Amino acid sequence: MPARRVNPYKVKLHRFYSVQELAECLGVHKNSVRTWQGAGLQAIDGKRPTVFTGAVARAFLLARQTSRKRPCPPGTIYCFKCRAPSAPALGMVEFIPGMGTTGNLTALCETCGTAMHRRANETKIAAIMPRLDVQIRQAPSRLIERAPASLNCDKPKD
Ligand SMILES: [Zn+2]
Repeated sequence: MPARRVNPYKVKLHRFYSVQELAECLGVHKNSVRTWQGAGLQAIDGKRPTVFTGAVARAFLLARQTSRKRPCPPGTIYCFKCRAPSAPALGMVEFIPGMGTTGNLTALCETCGTAMHRRANETKIAAIMPRLDVQIRQAPSRLIERAPASLNCDKPKD
């Protein structure tokens, strides 16, 4: 299930939140809050049940959003299953040309085997995927462009 986008500014800085309250405030399931705890969201020490300060929760969520926007380092594609940039399995990457010079790099995640995609400019493949042998798939559009030309050749002359 894809993670829901939350608005960190819904968290009031000077309030205290239980897991349930923080989940309700942001419109997410309690399990999301538990996941954030595992990812580094700090609760107030020694309190039962778990209590967060609004300031800490907001800072955590803002930092998390910022880190998500960071582009993947060279040689990696973002894996949505691992939720992290991942290297292509066996160093195999394929480029599927799209419109103009942009297209999609596709590879299998080295860690979990899930198909990963990354939009890329054909002229920048070497910079994005250094030391990797990127296979460029034949663009289907070029094949279609050729078809009418061959048909014209078969037409009888008037
Ligand atoms: Zn993965």
